[in-house]
Amino acid sequence: MDLRDTPEEAAFRAELRAWLEENLPGSLRGHRGGAARFDEPEMRAWSRALYDAGYAGLTWPKEYGGGSAPYTHQAIFLEEIARAEAPPHIGVIGLGMAGPTIMAHGSEAQKQRHLAPILSAEEIWCQGFSEPGAGSDLAGVRTTARLDGDHFVVDGQKVWSSFAHIADWCILVTRSDPESSRHAGLTYLIVDMHAPGVEVRPLRQITGEAEFNEIFFTGVEVPAENVLGEIGEGWQVAMTTLLHERGTLGFALQAALEVQIRKLVALAQDRGADALQRDRIAHEWSELQALRFTNARSLSQLVKTGIPGPEGSIAKLVWSEANQRVTKLALELLGPDAPLADGNAPYGGYWQYQQLRSRGNTIEAGTSEILRNIVAERVLGLPKSR
Ligand SMILES: Cc1cc2nc3c(=O)[nH]c(=O)nc-3n(C[C@H](O)[C@H](O)[C@H](O)COP(=O)(O)OP(=O)(O)OC[C@H]3O[C@@H](n4cnc5c(N)ncnc54)[C@H](O)[C@@H]3O)c2cc1C
Repeated sequence: MDLRDTPEEAAFRAELRAWLEENLPGSLRGHRGGAARFDEPEMRAWSRALYDAGYAGLTWPKEYGGGSAPYTHQAIFLEEIARAEAPPHIGVIGLGMAGPTIMAHGSEAQKQRHLAPILSAEEIWCQGFSEPGAGSDLAGVRTTARLDGDHFVVDGQKVWSSFAHIADWCILVTRSDPESSRHAGLTYLIVDMHAPGVEVRPLRQITGEAEFNEIFFTGVEVPAENVLGEIGEGWQVAMTTLLHERGTLGFALQAALEVQIRKLVALAQDRGADALQRDRIAHEWSELQALRFTNARSLSQLVKTGIPGPEGSIAKLVWSEANQRVTKLALELLGPDAPLADGNAPYGGYWQYQQLRSRGNTIEAGTSEILRNIVAERVLGLPKSR
């Protein structure tokens, strides 16, 4: 695979770079990640601007409002957004997970109803997979969906649901067959977050922000036509969602890590670094180059098959652990200034925030232990752990 841009890709990149230069509001530049700021009106306006310029859903079919562009354009888009330190489109779950799952398993009516408002940022989605007793082990889901005539009645609790406080829709994994256990008897539903019986309670995390939530469902009525895929086959549909969750983000993560390491180099130049610390910075830079090649392999797989491969797990694993090391090293370089809080901290508390937020990166979208299991079994072909 030739890793350089083709002339056509280079033109797309240059056009996008110029557009970002001209259109990214100064107040959003240097957006520090996390979903906490996503309820601000300027985030919705920014997402709408991306949509109007044709940058939302680049690879989605034109008939549903997308750009029918090749995956390489999406990779370039994610890279350039990260390099410009621009916030992502507000529809993180809609674009990355709900939309691709609806395209793969949804009815024509579901595609017509839901895809365009995701792109235009008119409707926000959240993901209701994790429960107090089902995180890594998603097959432990206990939220029930009981079929009653032409609708399901949903009862139960989800947890750690990012964006639920601003969401209009939820992709929900439920147990529809009370006699079933594990992977069987699950049904994947599209749930209206404004329906009676849906209660969202924000959870505060280590950064002090509240990005994710508990969701309680009490007798929530969901029309039977909102089943995604077939009744009882929710596990297969959920696997499509998880492949997409990790599969297409590699380039954004790699570019974000590059930005972070460049900032670390600037910090080291500013504050000084001893020989061992310089060695560690060089090590992080080398790891980044390896990640670049893994992502290229992933992309060539995606271009060939249209389905993200398990390599996406490597990118997420490598990025999340590297980001924790990089931000920890930055705090070491800050020395006695490291414990200072926001207003008093050097560089506006950037590094303190980054280190605290990075703790969640090795948990969300699959913990490091789970991703290592996936790499061992599905990339390397080692025997199953259970
Ligand atoms: C910032 C953030 C955002 C999130 N957003 C969402 C969201 O929008 N929607 C949603 O549904 N969920 C979300 N989650 C939840 C996330 O998916 C779960 O936290 C994650 O899957 C782990 O599940 P758990 O917390 O129940 O931990 P557990 O599954 O209980 O794991 C506990 C520990 O045991 C280890 N472990 C578990 N099983 C194994 C195994 N088989 N082999 C080796 N080690 C194992 C884990 O690695 C971990 O260290 C989010 C989490 C975070 C931190």
